Parts: sequence; C-alpha cells; structure tokens
Amino acid sequence: MSDYSTADVTAWMLTAFAVNKRNGAELQLDCPECGHPSCYFNVKKQVGYCHSASCRETWPLDKLIDKVGYSPDHIGFTVTPVIDTVVSRPVALPKAAKPIERLDTAVDALAYRGVTWDHIQKFRIHQDDTRLYVPVYEGGVLVQYNSRRVRKENPPEDWFKAGEKPYRYASGHPITHYLLGFEECRLWGDIVLVENSFVSMWLRDIHATATFGSHLSDTVINKIVHSRINHVTFLWDQGTEYASQKAQRKLKELGVQSKVIHIKGQPDDYTKEELKELL
Ligand SMILES: [Zn+2]
Repeated sequence: MSDYSTADVTAWMLTAFAVNKRNGAELQLDCPECGHPSCYFNVKKQVGYCHSASCRETWPLDKLIDKVGYSPDHIGFTVTPVIDTVVSRPVALPKAAKPIERLDTAVDALAYRGVTWDHIQKFRIHQDDTRLYVPVYEGGVLVQYNSRRVRKENPPEDWFKAGEKPYRYASGHPITHYLLGFEECRLWGDIVLVENSFVSMWLRDIHATATFGSHLSDTVINKIVHSRINHVTFLWDQGTEYASQKAQRKLKELGVQSKVIHIKGQPDDYTKEELKELL
C-alpha cells in the first residue's frame, strides 16, 4: 500500500482515467492495457484487475502511475481537460543521460531492434548506465521522454532482456499526449501507429510513429485531426482489439479514416516486407 489517502487516490483516478462507474470503493474503467471496459480498481485496496479473458492484467497503484506518467502528488499539475489549452511544460533528461556516440555498444544493441545510426541521431537517443532514453519533442521543446531499462552487462543482442517494468517516463507529463516525432508525421497524409518507440523507428520509412502503449488519447486524436493526416493504420500488439476499435470510432466521428491490422504477437515478430503486405 502507498502512503496516499483513499481520497487522494480517488481524486487522481478520476482525473487520470475515464472512470465509467463508481460503486463505493470500486471504480470501473477501461483497462489501460487492453481497453476492455470491465476493469475494476479498488481505491481502498489500491489495486485493480482487468476481467477481459485475453488480458487479466492486475493493476496495483504504482503500475497505474507508471502508465499515466504522473502520481497523485502531481494532481495539482494535471492538464485541464480542455484540449485546446494544454500547455507542454519543458522536461529535462536525467543529468547522467548522454547522447549515444558512433562507437558505443548501444549502436550495436539498437541495430538488433532495427534502429540505425541515422535513427539514433535523428531521434537524439541518449543513454546512462542502465537505460536508453528516447526524447519526445514538440515545437522544438522536450516535452517527455521514454526510457527503456537495458542490461549492459549482457552481449548487445541481449540488452533488451530487461524483465519487469522496463519503461519509465518523466513524471507529471502524460506520455499519452504525444506521438514520437510528430512534427515530422503531422505533414504526412497517412501514419501507422505502433506501441513501441524502437519499432516505430525501424518502421519510420513506412510512416510509423509510436503511441507509447495501446491508447489513443483525446489530446493525440485532436492533434491528428488538426494535421494533414487523413488516414491512420493501427499496428498495435496482439490483444489490443478493444482499444484500437474504440480509437477508430473516435477518429471516424472526426472524419479521419483508419484501418486496424490485427497481428499475432507484435510487429517486430514479422519482417518489414510481411508488414508492408498487411498495410
Ligand atoms: Zn485488460
């Protein structure tokens, strides 16, 4: 259990998630992982559970905090729900994080994910002793970063065998407000959405960008609607059908065409040629 009071947790839950129903200490929300509506969180026990048969994710409070990107401490800083007035506050990478250089082992490790030296420079990927950092910029300002735990004691091909909770973001800034490299993709007619940052770099030549998980927030939908993008393809991991169909409905209401590609596993289980045939 955390030190947060039930009232703090309740207030935070209601701000951070679209809670569909409240029944005493039980909140019913769309599962942050799969989007299924039968996900229940108990604000007294501070744990939740998704009842979708294909998901069955448990949601202790700290895992939800990881997902949202800010904790109940930051509730006062929560962005207002009026989308047009969202202000991107600047973020800093941890001080120890340095740009990856040409001869670093990180270049070899990332090559196993299909990420080239050009990608590393273009996306300004950083590293420290235990993590890789993918900065997220908007309007030339660093607004978030996605950091990935890596095992540098392993050979480069095994750096990404990092076990539990490999991702971390700057707190206080919902990662779900951003798409990776949006300043470039907002000018494209079509985009392909994938969950993972490195997968999106590997597939950048087929217009992929990363959603950092299987959720398309209203903020991101608003950005898409106000861009040149008129077609969106969902290439999310297996088990995200509810989430992608829900996002697809919202896009359709706003006049953006989309297509959902259901795959087994995740995109990097396939070759790029196989994925191109599915698009
Ligand atoms: Zn679920």
